[in-house]
Amino acid sequence: MERGCIFCQIVSGEKPADFLYQDQSLVVFKDIYPHAPVHLLIAPRRHIRSINEVTEQDKEIISQVILKGKEMAKEQGVAKSGYKLLFNVEQGGGQVIFHVHLHLLGGWR
Ligand code: 5GP
Ligand code: ZN
Repeated sequence: MERGCIFCQIVSGEKPADFLYQDQSLVVFKDIYPHAPVHLLIAPRRHIRSINEVTEQDKEIISQVILKGKEMAKEQGVAKSGYKLLFNVEQGGGQVIFHVHLHLLGGWR
């Protein structure tokens, strides 16, 4: 838990969010300012600042996050029509919350 990290607060239940899935290693919740008809965020419970900080020991959690993105796409009914899975990395990459999360965007058609 990183003090002042909004996603650590969401993960711990301190800050409310619209959760669609939770397990011991990750959570899935709706993006508060959706950029697509379906816009979910998949985040590991453990605080990792960005993809730049990911190491060999994070292989499993990062795979779990990506696989959950795929599963949620199916559950949300956008798997066939198609979707984006996106990591923004650091300021220049559009990251504004520095707790790793995968965007699932879809549902345009
Ligand atoms: P980033 O730009 O860091 O990749 O994405 C951060 C995302 O988190 C943005 O799409 C933004 O709308 C979303 N977001 C920011 N604050 C909150 C919040 O308090 N709750 C939820 N559910 N989403 C948030
Ligand atoms: Zn955090």
